[in-house]
Amino acid sequence: MVVIRRCNLSCGYCSEYDKSSDPVPVQVLEDRLRKLKELGTFGISLTGGEPTLHPDLPRIIRTCRKLRFYRTSMITNGFFLNPEMIETLNQAGLQKMQISIDGVHGNETTQNLPAFSSSMIATVRSN
Ligand code: SF4
Repeated sequence: MVVIRRCNLSCGYCSEYDKSSDPVPVQVLEDRLRKLKELGTFGISLTGGEPTLHPDLPRIIRTCRKLRFYRTSMITNGFFLNPEMIETLNQAGLQKMQISIDGVHGNETTQNLPAFSSSMIATVRSN
């Protein structure tokens, strides 16, 4: 489920992002989650754009868990992960996180990719 189309990166192959959209309002997302549950949806994957840019992400995750989806997960580029955010996501009940790393250095496809940070992986592993 796309929670925000905005992204801090601009990968050359991606058509799922922009630089200007507001976050989808949390009430709209919660209505959609309730409907998806009614329809028998198995699990939810929160995506974007970059989902960590949504200011209500912990609330959205908590709502997924309250609705008892089998799995609540998120796909992120990992750019904004830090120990505090990981703790917040853990406490909200996030069950799985996929980090997309499309390269070590920026190139014509992975535009604006920052230099790969081994400290980011160490942060995820330790939390
Ligand atoms: S990080 Fe993901 S959402 Fe953002 S531009 Fe790249 S592929 Fe698209």
